[in-house]
Amino acid sequence: MDYTVGAKALPVVCPHCDCPVPQKPGQGRVRLYCTPDAGKQYRRRLRALGIPL
Ligand SMILES: [Zn+2]
Repeated sequence: MDYTVGAKALPVVCPHCDCPVPQKPGQGRVRLYCTPDAGKQYRRRLRALGIPL
């Protein structure tokens, strides 16, 4: 069973700016953020709120 295909079939919305994130089919991790920078800023904001990631 290929778990990446199932996970990538779900629509992903960037938690930083609420935009849909296009997924590349095939190997690799599920993209959570539209850009690496959006992910960086999102995690920095969570740390500022006291949530370690
Ligand atoms: Zn985004």
